[in-house]
Formats: sequence, structure tokens, C-alpha cells
Amino acid sequence: MPKVAFYTLGCKLNFSETSTIGEQFLNKGFNIVEFKDHADVYVINTCTVTDNADKECRQIVRRALRENPNAFIAVTGCYAQLRPDEIAEIEGVDAVFGSNEKFKIFSILESFEKKELSCIYVADTEELNNEFNSAHSTDADSRTRAFFKIQDGCDYKCTFCTIPLARGKSRSMHHEEVISQFKQLVNSGYKEIILTGVNVGDYGNSSDIKLYDILKDLVEIPGDFRIRISSIEPNLLTEDIIKLTAENKKLCSHFHIPLQSGSSDVLKLMQRRYNASFYKDRINKIKELIPDCGIGVDVIVGSPGETHERFLETYNFIKDLPISYLHVFTYSERPNTKAINMQGNVEIAERRKRNNMLRILSEKKRNEFYRSMIGKELEVIFEHQNYNGFMKGFSSNYVRIINSFNENLINKITPVLIKEIKENEGIAETYTVNNTLTTLAG
Ligand code: SF4
Repeated sequence: MPKVAFYTLGCKLNFSETSTIGEQFLNKGFNIVEFKDHADVYVINTCTVTDNADKECRQIVRRALRENPNAFIAVTGCYAQLRPDEIAEIEGVDAVFGSNEKFKIFSILESFEKKELSCIYVADTEELNNEFNSAHSTDADSRTRAFFKIQDGCDYKCTFCTIPLARGKSRSMHHEEVISQFKQLVNSGYKEIILTGVNVGDYGNSSDIKLYDILKDLVEIPGDFRIRISSIEPNLLTEDIIKLTAENKKLCSHFHIPLQSGSSDVLKLMQRRYNASFYKDRINKIKELIPDCGIGVDVIVGSPGETHERFLETYNFIKDLPISYLHVFTYSERPNTKAINMQGNVEIAERRKRNNMLRILSEKKRNEFYRSMIGKELEVIFEHQNYNGFMKGFSSNYVRIINSFNENLINKITPVLIKEIKENEGIAETYTVNNTLTTLAG
């Protein structure tokens, strides 16, 4: 049986798409093996957000060829869509597939025979807009979390971002299709379904059915499951969605909301669609309706025009916000973006320093949030891995929880009591028997 191995860089959307490509290989009689193992075909799903995408891609290709010099190497993903020529020049690459073509590998290729020169199968960005390729992750063994792509592309014009070029315009899976595929995931036993996309909040932008309407329908589906939204732009997180989340346990009390900067001036330069005070109001509204809600925040440091004062504005803004953790990104110049030609360049060393400051702030925030959960009852879904006699899982509000391994509690929505938080790890120990909450001895 031929073997295929996958390597995925970047976001959850990429992971769900790799899974879908993997399913196609399985259907064609392939075995999926680990990337470090000997395979006949290696598929690398790239990301354009990654720093040094080309260097990273080169290294991964080399790793694959070390394992099997005769393997067929296919590269796809956002980086492949944007710079196919660059990838085709990497020694050992046989085929480059664009954002749409990656779902058609078997109709494009007749065989996986190694070639002298690499072939490029990448359509223009314009053509991306005509198709929506569905995807969801299928971790067949655990069945705990599924990443379900319901939206793709983005119509926004954030000055630092190349994603709209790599993924095309905003488009969504048809409403009925979402319901039907979601039901299939529930019936397959997934307990947490994470709605993903490039700009999920923009779901249904060109139709009457918006994200709120989809959520309202999904929570009515019978079954024991919960829904998480992977990430949502602040201007698209409506009060209706917050209220629905507050009222319905099937919606996780957790939002991941990109902020990017706490300075309204920088937000303007970035062409974001809100200012700092709007963002703050959103967060306060969430906390008013869902006091224990976990809130994750994306921030970019060192973008053009982020002066020292504006960075401090961001720092203090976040410090005073009741959020739970940050994902901190360091700005890096990307070809074909508006930002690359903007004034106010920030030194690389300064960018790193700012990144570090926010990471420390993130740890403090996480710790504070986790500590505020001590003594509270949370619902967790434990995953199947056994970490030396312990199991781990996430609560609805995104607190990482650890407990002694108990087969009977795996992949079930389980109420637990948070007893303590372990230093630096933000881990709570909990124990539950027959629905009676009992804490573990220290
Ligand atoms: S919202 Fe902005 S940052 Fe996000 S994908 Fe769209 S253009 Fe990029």
C-alpha cells in the first residue's frame, strides 16, 4: 500500500484542510504515516504568515527527501498560492498546488512519479472566489475536537495582511450544508466542534443568513456537544451572538478576538474596522453577560507607525482589559501589502522587545484568569492521551485542566471543580465521581 505523509504550517483552517486532503488519499488506498517516517508522497501545506516561509519550506522538503530521496514532494497552502515560482525552484519539489487545486490533486495528477522539473498548478486569485471547498479535521482516534471550515477568504483590507491574496474573497458554505455536515460530525462522536474560516464572523456576508443565524440553528441540534468559534473580528461579534452564548451552554464561553493594536491611530493605519474604545466596549459587554468568559486576543507588535508611545498605549490598554491571554505576533514585511511601503519602520530588536513585554503580560493575564476559576465548577472534555497517568482537556471557557487518568471520563462533557492552579502552567487538578464533585488531595 502506498504511503503519504503530511506537514502543516499555520492556522487551524490549514489543519482542517490537510485532514480533508488526507481523506482523499485514504480513499485512494494510501496509508497515512508520520512525517518523520518513510513515505512515497509527502504533502506540505504552507502558510504565508509564518516568518521565513521559504526557508522553512526548504527545510521541510529536505527532511522529507532525507527519509526517502525518491518520494514525490507536493507543496500547497497560502505560500504556494502566492509564490509558486519560488517553491518550484526548491530542489526536489515535484508539484505546487494552489489554494483550490490542493483539493483536486487526484484529478490533476495521473501518477506520483518523480519529475525532472516541478509543475505548478495554481489558478489566479480571482478564480479562488468561485469555489468553496469544504474541510473538517478528522482525528479518527480521539473524536474529541473537530475543526469545521464554514467560511473562506476575506474582503477586508488590513494593510499588513496577505491572506486575502492567498485565499480570495469572503465566501461561505451553504447554510443547509453547514447543518448537514455539522450533524454528521456530532453523529461521528465529536464533542467539541470548532467553527473555522479566515474570517468566520463574516459568514454569509452576501446572504441573509449570518453567523448568528447559523449558531441559533446549530444549538438546536440534539446531542451532547459544544461549539467553539475559532476567532471572530470585534466588529462582527454582535450583541446577539454574545447574548446567545450567555444563554446557551452549547456555545463555549470563550471568544478569540483579534485586537492587533490598542492604539486607535495604529488601528487606523492598519485599516482595521474598529477603534480601541469600540473594542473595549465589546469586551465589557461580554464580561457583563458572561462573567467567566475566556477571552483570547491577537496583537501585532512593531507594525509601521507603532511609535514607542503608541506601543505603550497598547500595553496599558491590554493591561486594563479583563482578557485571559494573548497571541503575540511580531510584524514582518510581506510583499504586495500596503504596509511594506508605509513610514515609521520599527527596528527589529525593538519589535522583539515589545513582543517579549506582551508575552510576559499574557502570562500574567492567564494566571489571573486561571486563579479566578479556583472553587468554580467548569465543564471539561478530557482528551484520550495518557500523560504519565494524567489526562488533559479544555473547559468551555478555555482553561487547560489536568486530572488523574480515568478512561470513563474521556471525551465526555464532564463537570469538574477547580481546586488549584499549578505555577506557570495554569493547570487545575480536579476529580469527579458519579457526578459528585470531590477534589483531589493536594
Ligand atoms: S480580517 Fe484583516 S487580518 Fe484578518 S484575514 Fe482579513 S485582511 Fe487579514
